[in-house]
Amino acid sequence: MSETVLDAAFFIRWMTATAAAVDEQADRLTELDSAIGDADHGSNLQRGFAAVVTALEAEPPATPGAVLMTAGRRLISTVGGASGPLYGSLLRRTGKALGEAPEINTEELRTGLGAGVDAVAQLGGAAAGDKTMLDALIPGVAALTTSFEAAAAAAEEGAVATVPMQARKGRASYLGERSIGHQDPGATSSALLFTTLAEVAK
Ligand code: ADP
Ligand code: MG
Repeated sequence: MSETVLDAAFFIRWMTATAAAVDEQADRLTELDSAIGDADHGSNLQRGFAAVVTALEAEPPATPGAVLMTAGRRLISTVGGASGPLYGSLLRRTGKALGEAPEINTEELRTGLGAGVDAVAQLGGAAAGDKTMLDALIPGVAALTTSFEAAAAAAEEGAVATVPMQARKGRASYLGERSIGHQDPGATSSALLFTTLAEVAK
């Protein structure tokens, strides 16, 4: 990957673009969650990322790590559903891995996100193939070795690949075989994170 340098402003733009994408896709995310969950995924993330943007605007952090740790904390404190603590851990753990450097490169971001994804797996006890956000996050991070665009495509493919899966974690798992045939809402929103990352990197 190219020698792109990523600073705090880049990460604030990423979080702001994610909030906008979540707003735009909220109805779709809630619709997916109404099929195999409790129809709140869109509103959960809308509330969470709106709070993230408010916090980042009120006091813009100076480093990439601090931006993501602030974002993660806000998600944990504002989103009641399973996705709040899980996305919160993803961003907090990634932010922690980025340390206090004022600028990072794409390789450091990939490594940091890898640590964040591990934190999600640890907190939720899920693995690849369980029909969760991990099914988009894992391929997305893996494809970051190629490019931001490749990561967005891989995460989107991962989200679509959850359709034939049977959910083994989270609310959707209560449905057993009836969870088959629907795209996982969390995998869908995770793919959005990579789409916005590719957008802001352009
Ligand atoms: P809730 O399930 O509490 O209503 P949301 O609707 O906001 O929360 O989020 C649901 C999404 O969270 C699911 O689609 C799935 O991707 C993700 N999820 C749920 N449980 C887990 C878990 N244990 N590990 C990873 N992701 C999970
Ligand atoms: Mg839900």
